[in-house]
Amino acid sequence: MSTDTAKTADVRRPDWITEELLSDLVSRVPSSTGASWKLTEVYSGEVLVALPQSSPADVERAAAEGRAAQRKWAATPLPQRLAVFRRAHELILRNQHKIADLIQAESGKARRIAFEEVCDPPMVISHYLKRAPKLLRDKKRPGVMPVLSSSIERHPPRGLVGIIAPWNFPFATGLSDAIPALMAGNAVLLKPDNKTALSPLYGISLLEEAGLPKGLFQVVCGEGPDVGPTMMDNVDYAMFTGSTATGRVIGEQAGRNLIGACLELGGKNPMIVLDDADIDETVGGSMFAVFGNTGQICMHIERIYIPEAMYDEFRDKFVAAVEGMRIEAAYAFGPDLGALVSPDHLARVQSHVEDAVAKGATVLTGGKARPDIGPTFFEPTILEGTTKEMLHGVTETFGPVVSLHRYSTLEEAIELANDTDYGLNASVWTTDFKRAQAVAARIESGNVNINDGLATAYASKSTPSGGMKQSGVGARHGDQGLLKYTETQNVATLKKQVMGPQGKQTFDDYAKQMQMSLRWMRKLGIR
Ligand code: NAD
Repeated sequence: MSTDTAKTADVRRPDWITEELLSDLVSRVPSSTGASWKLTEVYSGEVLVALPQSSPADVERAAAEGRAAQRKWAATPLPQRLAVFRRAHELILRNQHKIADLIQAESGKARRIAFEEVCDPPMVISHYLKRAPKLLRDKKRPGVMPVLSSSIERHPPRGLVGIIAPWNFPFATGLSDAIPALMAGNAVLLKPDNKTALSPLYGISLLEEAGLPKGLFQVVCGEGPDVGPTMMDNVDYAMFTGSTATGRVIGEQAGRNLIGACLELGGKNPMIVLDDADIDETVGGSMFAVFGNTGQICMHIERIYIPEAMYDEFRDKFVAAVEGMRIEAAYAFGPDLGALVSPDHLARVQSHVEDAVAKGATVLTGGKARPDIGPTFFEPTILEGTTKEMLHGVTETFGPVVSLHRYSTLEEAIELANDTDYGLNASVWTTDFKRAQAVAARIESGNVNINDGLATAYASKSTPSGGMKQSGVGARHGDQGLLKYTETQNVATLKKQVMGPQGKQTFDDYAKQMQMSLRWMRKLGIR
C-alpha cells in the first residue's frame, strides 16, 4: 500500500471554510429547542459546526412554509422555472471546487470522487432542461367517442416532496433528486444525514442565488427516527435513498398515508468477468468499481466472479494494482482512496472483514484500519474464500472490501450473481458485446454495466435507474424520474351527450350497437 506521502500531505482545511460561513450555512435549519449535533471534519475528527436539530413542530412549520411557497411557484410559467436551473447549472460549475471542499470535509472522501459528485446535479439539470417541457406539456389524447370526445393528460405537481438522503453522496442525492421535483412545480423538504448537511445546504444557497424563490426548498435536520415520521405525515411524496432496512420503514409510512414513494436502497453487486475479457482492462476498471468513494457507493462491486482458467492471473494483477493505490487525507487530487465516513462505519467494515477471516476467508491484501493516516481510514481489501455464512458473503459491507470467486461455467456465474436478495447493479466484462447483452438480460438487477463498474449506467440520465428485488421501488432519471413527482390528471370532454340509449332506443338495441361499434373500432384500429 503506498502511504509514504500520507504524513506530508496537506490536510489543512481550505481557508474559505470559516466558522462564520458554516454558522451562516446551518442557520437555515430550524431548531426551536436549540438542540444541536456536532458535525465533524472526517480527516481530523474536529468539530466543524453545531448543526441545529429540528423538532417535530419545526418539521411541521417547515412543511407549511414550503407549501405556501409552492402555490406561487406552481403558477410560475415553466420557462421561467427552468431559467432558474439554467443559471444554477453555471453557478454549480463555477463553484465546483468549493463544493468539493465541503463534501470532503464532511465525508472524508477522496477529491476525485468529490469532484465527480459535484458533476451530478449539472448533468441532471441539463437532461431535464431538455425533457421537462415535453413531459410537463398537456397531451391531447383520443377520447372514447371519435370526433365527439377528447381527453387531455395533465401532470400537475404533487405539492410538497420529501427527500431523505444518505451521507455517501450528500450533494448529489440532496440536489439531483430535488431538481426534477422543483422543475415540475413542487416544493421540497429535505432531510440530509446529520454528518453531511453542509454541501446540500451550500447547494441550496446556490439555487437561491440562481433565482429559486426563498422558502421553496426547506431543510430539516435530525436523527431519522426523530424527524422522519413527522416528515412522512406532512409530505405528498417521498423520495428516499438509504439502507433497505430504513426503506422498509419509509415504505410502510408512505403506504399508511397513501402517498407515493421512490425507494433507492442497498446492493450486493456482482461483477462477472467472461472468458474473453481483456484482463488488464478489467483489472483497471475494477479499481474504481470496487474502491470508488472508498467502497461507499450503493452500486459498487462487492463480489467478482472469474473463470477458473483466468483466476490466478486476474487475482495477481488485481492485488498488485490495489497495493499500488494511494491512500491519504488531502483536499487535493492525488489520493485514490479517502477515508470512511465515521468511526461507526469503520467498525462495521472492520467487523465484516474480521467475521470473514474468523470463518475461514483469506485476506489477499489490506484488511486493517489505518489510524496512522486518519481516524477512519481502512485499507483496500481483497478477500478470497468467502461464503454465504459470512456477513460479507450476504450483506452489504459498503466499504473498500471485495471478494473473488472462481466459476467453471457461465450458467454457474449467472446463478451466483443472482443468488442475493438485492438487485441494484451488476457488471459484465467481455470483448463480445452481443454475448454481454444476453448475459445482462439474465441478471436480476436494475442496472447492468458492460465493461464498466457503475458510472456508465448512473450517468445515463435518459434511462431510469433503480433497484430490483430488495434494492428498491421506482427509479430516478429518465422520464419517470420527473413524472413520479407529478399527479396524473385526465380531463375528458364530451362535445355532445351521446352516452347510453338515445331517444326511444331500448337497452337491448343499445347493447347490440355498442357490441358492433367496439368490433368496428378494433378492426379500424380506433380503440
Ligand atoms: P440509512 O438508511 O441508515 O440512512 C439514510 C437516511 O435515512 C439518513 O438521512 C438517515 O438519517 C435517514 N433515516 C434513518 N432512519 C430513518 C427513519 N426511521 N425515518 C426517516 N429517515 C430515517 O442509510 P445509510 O447507512 O446512512 O446510507 C447508506 C445506505 O444507502 C447503503 O445501504 C447504500 O447502499 C444506500 N444507498 C442507496 C443508493 C441508491 O440509489 N440505491 C444511493 C446511495 C446510498
